[in-house]
Amino acid sequence: MYSSMHTPLKNLRFYSFLSRFNLVRSYKLKIMLVAFLGTHVPLLTLFAFFIAANSLSFESTVKILIIALIATLVGTALTLLALDTLLAPVVQTSLALRNYLNQSALPKLPTHFTDEVGTLMADTVHTIRNLDDAIQYIVHYDNLTGLPNQLLFQKQLQQAIAQAERDNRSLAVMVLRLNNFENVRNALGSSVGELLLRNVVQRLSDAMPKHSVLAFLGSDVFGVMQPEITASHNVPGLAQDLLDTIAKPFSLNGSEVSTSASIGIAISSFDGVTDEQLLQNANTALKQAERQGHHYQFYSLEMNTLLQERLALENELGYALIRNELTVHYQPRFDTRTQRIVAVEALLRWQNPVRGLVSPATFIPIAEANGLILEMGEWVLKTACQQSQIWRSAGLPPIRMAVNLSARQFEQPDLVERIAQILAQTGVEASCLELEVTEGLMMKNVTHSIASLQQLHDLGISIALDDFGTGYSSLNYLSRFPIDTLKIDQSFMRNIVTNPDDVVITKAIIALATSLQLNITAEGVETKEQFEFVEAHGCDEVQGYYFSRPVTADVLTQLLESNYFPESHLSAAVQTRNLIPD
Ligand code: C2E
Ligand code: MG
Ligand code: MG
Repeated sequence: MYSSMHTPLKNLRFYSFLSRFNLVRSYKLKIMLVAFLGTHVPLLTLFAFFIAANSLSFESTVKILIIALIATLVGTALTLLALDTLLAPVVQTSLALRNYLNQSALPKLPTHFTDEVGTLMADTVHTIRNLDDAIQYIVHYDNLTGLPNQLLFQKQLQQAIAQAERDNRSLAVMVLRLNNFENVRNALGSSVGELLLRNVVQRLSDAMPKHSVLAFLGSDVFGVMQPEITASHNVPGLAQDLLDTIAKPFSLNGSEVSTSASIGIAISSFDGVTDEQLLQNANTALKQAERQGHHYQFYSLEMNTLLQERLALENELGYALIRNELTVHYQPRFDTRTQRIVAVEALLRWQNPVRGLVSPATFIPIAEANGLILEMGEWVLKTACQQSQIWRSAGLPPIRMAVNLSARQFEQPDLVERIAQILAQTGVEASCLELEVTEGLMMKNVTHSIASLQQLHDLGISIALDDFGTGYSSLNYLSRFPIDTLKIDQSFMRNIVTNPDDVVITKAIIALATSLQLNITAEGVETKEQFEFVEAHGCDEVQGYYFSRPVTADVLTQLLESNYFPESHLSAAVQTRNLIPD
C-alpha cells in the first residue's frame, strides 16, 4: 500500500515527473504544455534550419518569421481550444467527485458516451449513486430488523410535524417496548431473541395503517408515528391493535414464546412541538404505563381520560344497533303562516343502558370517524320512511320527511341507488323525502356533490341546506347546487333579539334565499319574539322548541292528528307546548 502510493506506476512516471513542477500543477496545463512543446520544438527547429540553409535577405527572413509566427500562433490557439473542450469531461468528473465528498451532492454527468472518458463519467455516476444508497441505508436503517432507525425516525418526524402544522392538524408518536424481552433472551439465547424481534417486526408492520411509520429505536423499543389523526380516538385503536397482535404467542424454533408490550403516546400540539419533545414525552408516558401496569398511556392526563372515554363510547356504539338502543325522534316543522305541520325532521337518539340518553352531537362524530354512520344513517332513513308510510296509511296528509345525511354517507358511490331502493321498499314517494346536507359536506368535493345532489333531485327528492350561515356560506356555489330549502342555523335565532349583527345577517340570508327562490326555514325558534321576527321577515317554515321539541313517533302522531283534524281550535303549536319535552 505504502510503496504503491509513492512509487508511481510505469505509465504514471512522466505524469509524476511533470507534477514536480509547481508551474504546471493543473492537469489541463500539463496537457497543454505537452501539446505546445510537441508542436513548437519541431517547428522552430525546422524554421531555424531553413533560415540557416538559405542565405536569405534580412527582409525575407523577417517576412518568413512573421508568417511562421502567425501560423503557429493560430494553429496553437486552435489546438489548445480543442484540447480545453476535450478535457472538460475529465475536469467535470473530478469536480463532481469533489462535490460528493464535500457536500454529498450526487453527480449529474452525462452517461451515454461510450469512449474512455464517457465511461469514466458514467461509471462515476453509477458508482457514487450505488455507494450513496448503501451509505444512506447503513446510516438510516437498522441492520437486524430492516426498519428505519432513530435517526431516520426523527427526520421523518420533523417532516411530518412541519406538514401537520401546515395542515393545522395533530399527529401521534408512540413508543412501544416489549415487556419481557430480556427474560426471553436470557432463557432461550440471543438467537431466539433476534428471531422474536424479527417476528414482532413482521406483526407490527402488518398492523400498521397506511402512511404510518414503524421504526426500531434500539434494544427492544419501537417507535410509531401516525401522521394524521382524523378523529383522535383512532390512536388508542391503533395502540390496542399493536398490543393485541404482539400478545398472540409466537412459535420460534419449535417453542412457543409469549410476550407483551407497553406503549407511551404523545400527541403533537398537546404534548410538544418538536420531534425531541414528542419522543421524550412518549417515553415518559411509556414509563408511566409500565409502572402502573397499563397497556398504553397518553402523556397528558386529560387526553388519556378523554380518549379512554371515547374509546369506551365507541365500543358501546358498535353494539347500539344490534341491541336496539337506537330510536328516531321527530321534530315538526311548521308553515309560518298557517302554523300547520308541513314537514318533520328525523333525529337519531341513542338510549344507552348505563349512560342514559347520549346526544347525537357526541356520538355522530364518532360514528362518522369509524364508519358506523353508514349503517346507522341507512337505518334512520329506512325507519323514517317506514314511519312516513305509517302516517300515510293512517290517513294523514302527506308531509315531507327530512333526514340528515352525513359526509361519509354522501361519499358512498352507490348512495343514489341505496336511497332509491329504500323509497321503493317502503313505498314512500320521492317528493315526500327531504335530505338535509351541510355546506362542509358539499364543499368536500364540489363536482361530486353537484352530480349526486342532481341525481337525487332528479328522482324528486328535495334537498335542504342545513345549518346555513355557519360554514362557508359560499353564495357563489349556492346557485350551482340543486337546493330547495335553506335552513338558517339556530345560532342566529339565539341572538336575533339582542344582536343587531345577527339581525342584519339573517335579513341578508332571507333576501338571498328569496332571490334564489328557495324555501326558507328558521331553525331553533324558541321564543315568541324569535317567531315574530322570522314571520315578519318572510321565513316560510319554522322549527324549534317554541313549537315542539323532537318527540317520539307516537307523540308526533297525536300532533299530526290534532294539527289536521282539530277537535279544538288550538293550533298544533300551542298544543305541543304542553307536551312533555324530549
Ligand atoms: P341538526 O340537523 O341541525 O338538527 C337540529 C338540532 O337542533 C337537533 O339537535 C334539535 O333537537 C335541535 N333543536 C331543534 N329545535 C331547537 C331549539 O328551538 N333550540 C335548540 N337549542 N335546539 C333545537 P339534535 O337532535 O341533538 O341533533 C344534533 C345534530 O346531530 C343535528 O343537527 C344533526 O346534525 C345530527 N343528527 C341528528 N340525527 C342525525 C341522523 O340521523 N343522521 C345524521 N347524519 N346526523 C344526525
Ligand atoms: Mg338537520
Ligand atoms: Mg341544523
